[in-house]
Amino acid sequence: HEGPIETDAVIVGAGPVGLFQVFELGLLEVKAHVIDSLAYPGGQCIELYPDKPIYDIPAVPMCTGKELTDSLLKQIEPFGATFHLGQEVSQVQKQDDGRFFVQTSKGTRFLTKTIFIAGGVGSFQPRLLKIEGLDKFDGTQLHYRVRNPSTFAGKNLVIVGGGDSALDWALNFAQDGPNKAESVILIHRRDGFRAAPASVAKMKELCEAYEMQFIVGQVTGIDETDGKLSAIKVTGGDGVTRVVPLDMLLVFFGLSPKLGPIAEWGLSIDRKQLTVDTEKFETNVPGIFAVGDINTYPGKKKLILSGFHEAALAAFGAAPIIFPEKRIHLQYTTTSPKLHKVLGVE
Ligand code: FAD
Repeated sequence: HEGPIETDAVIVGAGPVGLFQVFELGLLEVKAHVIDSLAYPGGQCIELYPDKPIYDIPAVPMCTGKELTDSLLKQIEPFGATFHLGQEVSQVQKQDDGRFFVQTSKGTRFLTKTIFIAGGVGSFQPRLLKIEGLDKFDGTQLHYRVRNPSTFAGKNLVIVGGGDSALDWALNFAQDGPNKAESVILIHRRDGFRAAPASVAKMKELCEAYEMQFIVGQVTGIDETDGKLSAIKVTGGDGVTRVVPLDMLLVFFGLSPKLGPIAEWGLSIDRKQLTVDTEKFETNVPGIFAVGDINTYPGKKKLILSGFHEAALAAFGAAPIIFPEKRIHLQYTTTSPKLHKVLGVE
């Protein structure tokens, strides 16, 4: 067993503000580890509006959520931050030596001098299908994400949902290929989808060719046989409940953010936001900073540009903790040879 990763800074959240925190820390020669529960960086910009245009990033007249994320990733490249994606920060504990012990849902552990919480509106979690007795099949026969598609090959699948994930996986498993299922039934509460029209058309085509089936209805119950989930009950618009047998149930109801474990770290919270000062954007726990949508202070506006400013001041606020002997001066990226060196543009 390896020991925890020892570091100067851990950033919780890889949204736009967490990414820019890497930059501001990097200028002060602080290397960071970035953790996000999503499998990719970008936060709300990627999860909620990758293709929508943003018009209020200073000096960028227009960019999409995806373009902003890509630009930030490029901008922070010189600082070599380490990303730990697809894992939620579950635990934060102050140690006797003043550092913090941080642990993720995947068991990655850190000992860090400072923490920057850039958790936005919280950690994105799959919305659950709430049916009595269904919980206990989570991870065996009930899945909210596809980690390994081959798990589902050759099985009788029921897929619930009406967005891109539901459609994409239904098409993937219904068509010839390495992961082709024995059968695929798609269930959605109405005959209208929030998915790419081309995928919807393809799905209808496959249904007409009897390669898969689509049922309009809601899951209202389950059948259990010998401790296994053997079928679900689907109530249609006509009020009739049908029993649909299955091997595996895949549910794609989208992701919703939850403040989650952040609420349990002893930080002062006001209406689901972390209260901070506006000098350093530090929480009530010295050494733990909060930037971006997750924080609140008089006059707070949940804008990306506000988060960028907060990240700069939080980095300066944290520097004395990380380098107690150093005096930190403000330097310009335009003219400072030292900054040119850290940016790799000498
Ligand atoms: P987020 O983008 O929310 O990222 C936080 C990240 O932290 C998430 O990826 C989450 O998974 C992760 N996280 C949370 N808790 C944990 C945990 N415990 N462990 C691990 N990871 C965790 N703002 C503008 O300035 N201009 C606009 O035009 C604009 N348009 C918008 C349009 C829409 C439709 C929406 C929804 C928002 C818009 N916003 C806009 C707001 C902007 O997206 C947010 O202000 C910005 O995303 C906040 O960035 P953030 O990094 O603080 O948080």
